[in-house]
Amino acid sequence: MPAEVPEPPANKPYAAKVFKDMINLVWPGTTYDGGSIVTGYQIEMCEGTKNSWKVLTKNVFSTSYAVKGLKDNSTYKFRVSCINAIGTSKPSIVSEPIVASDSKGDDYDEEDEPDEASFEPRKVKTRKENVKEFYEIREELGKGKFGTVNKCVEKKSKKMLAAKFIKAEKPADKKECEHEIEIMMVLQHPKLLQLYDAFATGNNMVMILEYVSGGELFERVIDESFDLTEKEVTFFMRQICEGVKFMHAQKVLHLDMKPENILCVRKNSNKIKIIDFGLAQVMKKGLKVSCGTPEFLAPEVVSYDEVSYTTDMWAVGVICYVLLSGLSPFMGDNEGETMSNILKVEWDFDDECFDEISDLSKNFIESLLKEDKSERMTADQCLNNDWLKKELKSTHALSKARIKKYVIKRRWQKAFNAVRAMIRVKRFI
Ligand code: ATP
Repeated sequence: MPAEVPEPPANKPYAAKVFKDMINLVWPGTTYDGGSIVTGYQIEMCEGTKNSWKVLTKNVFSTSYAVKGLKDNSTYKFRVSCINAIGTSKPSIVSEPIVASDSKGDDYDEEDEPDEASFEPRKVKTRKENVKEFYEIREELGKGKFGTVNKCVEKKSKKMLAAKFIKAEKPADKKECEHEIEIMMVLQHPKLLQLYDAFATGNNMVMILEYVSGGELFERVIDESFDLTEKEVTFFMRQICEGVKFMHAQKVLHLDMKPENILCVRKNSNKIKIIDFGLAQVMKKGLKVSCGTPEFLAPEVVSYDEVSYTTDMWAVGVICYVLLSGLSPFMGDNEGETMSNILKVEWDFDDECFDEISDLSKNFIESLLKEDKSERMTADQCLNNDWLKKELKSTHALSKARIKKYVIKRRWQKAFNAVRAMIRVKRFI
């Protein structure tokens, strides 16, 4: 069947943030790309009550756009069209009227914001070509044990993406990377980072990933402008549990849940995505693993016993504990001590910072940090737990000083681990 123009975005655009001279718009992707991938979006604006539409841009490559230069207290409406190689779709449903002002729109709730990847779900097959023929590689975004992650732009579509470079010197390394690609193919969910393309040439493997620009979740919460309360923590935990629930429904264990693997979609957004499926495994009876990051390891990993879906939920409990308190429940002076604390399941809420924290949140953590993995809550049970289910009124500010200290410590650890890894993994770009 010949390709045709795409369908418009599945719903109207929303205002993610409103200022007196700027509106940050977001919208969902198309319902059908017409048989040719959506390469960009056209944004149109209508001012006041007039019905005359002005094209603002045809060069937007993600599902959000900051409309600048607006007049304070003026009302605007927007509509968005999808573009593919054949042409431009009909416009989307028109947005609600939005008043440019320094307050958040009354009807705006971040949870209603469309939750899409910057591209439609796609089937990826590893290509044996040179990545640089198709993508322009830009600045470094981060470093991990297995290599570096750089920003990149697809030459054809001008889409902004991320390229994860992995040096696969041994056949086993290559297999691991192919395994990560296979796993990512079954993990198509808004809370899980999406794969766009993949390359394998010689010893070099490159995964082209959805680009998320908001940085690590813990860096966001320590930002001066961020108000960290229990309510915000529930918003993050709910999204983490949604992502993990989907993974588990696909029979996949993440096995490396930790703060660095939770990224914010954009600066100033509380929407998150879980990344790094490098250690993920398809669940099977008798599965044992000996990998992960010490502070977040469940007792059954430390003792090399059989793991289960609730092995990830232990780590979710540790992340929640750290987010609420800035303290790491099992952290010892060295890895050995940390492992020993985990095996003894030695942790508590004794620090005075827990005096201000609700019993509901403590019950939530207690139901995850249980030695017996069959007694821990599943991701689905977490989502139905009162702490996450009820809309919290509490706005008591949590102390960011300890979280800052924690983040700085982890930065040092990460830099140290990356240097250690770089001795083994040479960059090749
Ligand atoms: P680890 O040592 O944690 O196992 P890794 O080698 O598997 O790491 P990732 O965790 O996937 O690599 O990425 C390393 C860092 O790069 C992340 O912590 C993050 O800061 C950044 N990063 C990764 N993917 C993206 C992305 N899609 N968009 C933006 N930044 C990213």
